[in-house]
Amino acid sequence: MINVTKTFLPPQEEYQAILKRAWDTGWMTNRGVLVKELEDQLKSYLGVNQMIAMTNGTLPLQIAIKALNLEGEIITTPFSYVATTSSIVWEGCTPVFVDIHPEYLTIDETKIEAAITPKATAILATHVFGNPCHIEAIEAIAKKYNLKVIYDAAHCFGVTYKEQSIFNYGDVSTCSFHSTKLFHTGEGGAIFCNDAHLLNSLFYHHNFGHKGKEDFQGIGINGKMSELQAALGLSVLPYMEQIIASRKNAIEVYNSLLETINVKTITIRPETEWNFSYYPILFEEEAQLLKVVAALNKKEIYPRRYFYPSLNTLPYIIHSSLPLSEAISKRILCLPLYYRVDENIQILIANIIKSSL
Ligand SMILES: *Cc1c(COP(=O)(O)O)cnc(C)c1O
Repeated sequence: MINVTKTFLPPQEEYQAILKRAWDTGWMTNRGVLVKELEDQLKSYLGVNQMIAMTNGTLPLQIAIKALNLEGEIITTPFSYVATTSSIVWEGCTPVFVDIHPEYLTIDETKIEAAITPKATAILATHVFGNPCHIEAIEAIAKKYNLKVIYDAAHCFGVTYKEQSIFNYGDVSTCSFHSTKLFHTGEGGAIFCNDAHLLNSLFYHHNFGHKGKEDFQGIGINGKMSELQAALGLSVLPYMEQIIASRKNAIEVYNSLLETINVKTITIRPETEWNFSYYPILFEEEAQLLKVVAALNKKEIYPRRYFYPSLNTLPYIIHSSLPLSEAISKRILCLPLYYRVDENIQILIANIIKSSL
């Protein structure tokens, strides 16, 4: 069976050697040495000054909304994973959706201003498939209307924009280290913020508000990463260059195999060093996509409709019409892409696609 992704697993002895250090101290969580070591290694790998490792990539979004005291309306994208929208609703805010750019698939910055009402407090946008939003335009709008900016950068491990880490942009940026993502800790994630005061607040929020053992700074939740997660991250991190190079190669293989047919893939924004995290293809019609999926499934190949459905159609959302996001969600498919995906499988996939169209 071939899935859309396959989790990279380092040699088990390497994971166990790091785990042994946790065993030796008997310390499993509450920011032990392994979490701190992982944070230090990630800061230097990614080129960021500050970060907090967390237990997944969703809590950082919720904690950011909470720590920024956001209320009212949050301008957001309908083309993302459900966590982007659910975090807004979970925190008692109302998502206001803005349609997406047809090539970059990120929120259409030219349509943001029209969606801003006096109730708007922030923009929460996703760098889709690691492809940056129009960061400058969003920054300018946020400044003009006094809005906070949070980037859901779940897909962005290792991405740089204008020669610095994508995680350095926005008031807060988040990442996911889920095992389906490029870099992973099983479950895991991180929050990034360059404002020392806000980072401090985010830190308290992720640890119950604890200020020492018996004192509390304010309300908090438990977003801590455990030592077991950090150990996995520390054993995966040394392989990142190999992982990214292998995926780059696989994407080049897909590109050349699919050259002759008329399917579009993602356009990466200029001045971006991308991470080769996904291989989405865009069909002309949903019917073609469904035919291709059925034919691939017959061979036990499971690509993923990602992102589908468009988040403005979620059952707990008051529906508004967003023609591009809805149309693209129905026509986009992520093909299997992972470390050392077999080229013969890629050839098979391309042949099935071609013969189904
Ligand atoms: C994976 C993902 C998340 C959630 O991350 P978890 O680590 O699974 O909680 C949020 N946003 C986007 C865009 C994602 O792809």
